[in-house]
Amino acid sequence: MVDQINKDERYKSRQEKVKADVDARVEAAQEEKGLFLIITGNGKGKSTSGFGTIARAVGHGFKCGVGQFIKGTWDCGERNLLEQHGVHFEVMATGFTWETQNKESDKAAAQKTWAECKSMLADDSYDVVLLDEMTYMVTYGYVELEEVVETINNRPSMQSVIITGRAAHRTLIEMADTVSEVKSVKHAFESGVKARKGVDW
Ligand code: ATP
Ligand code: MG
Repeated sequence: MVDQINKDERYKSRQEKVKADVDARVEAAQEEKGLFLIITGNGKGKSTSGFGTIARAVGHGFKCGVGQFIKGTWDCGERNLLEQHGVHFEVMATGFTWETQNKESDKAAAQKTWAECKSMLADDSYDVVLLDEMTYMVTYGYVELEEVVETINNRPSMQSVIITGRAAHRTLIEMADTVSEVKSVKHAFESGVKARKGVDW
């Protein structure tokens, strides 16, 4: 009985300390600015995280834009939904780059989409901009890293931007405020299961 009381008190005092630490950190975090987030890694969940953030922002009445740099041949569930809620989409006209196998036309398509995205990144009426699969554009050399860095650094100060895609360039990782790496533990596709509408796209 006494042991139990001691245990409860120790728990209570530990929790009070945790709360005091959290309160102090919340108090210290006073800076307000738009954030640059990167969701990278080989696991499933990067684009869904980016679109989840857009849905969250839309739910608060914010203006959002999405640039989709590698578009599948299938339709996109998020686009079907979010366009109806005023989200502006810029979609690269080609399908997956490894399907088109035409570097020059892919580069031209990427540059066109990037130019449209740059307008959103210069427009302070946009609160959150998602650049889905943007990492590959830098890796393939379709869009200059320096230009991406400059555009993101010069965006409106309260605007948040999210980049998704595997193997994010280390310069972008260094610049970003928040970086998450999604690790693949397993994926259904590896066991021969087809990609599923409503889950995979
Ligand atoms: P999602 O759009 O589901 O969040 P993602 O953005 O993390 O996935 P991408 O690399 O953009 O992943 O791949 C898009 C498609 O490939 C999705 O249909 C996804 O289910 C599938 N995929 C993602 N990760 C893997 C993986 N490790 N192995 C096989 N397929 C994957
Ligand atoms: Mg993705």
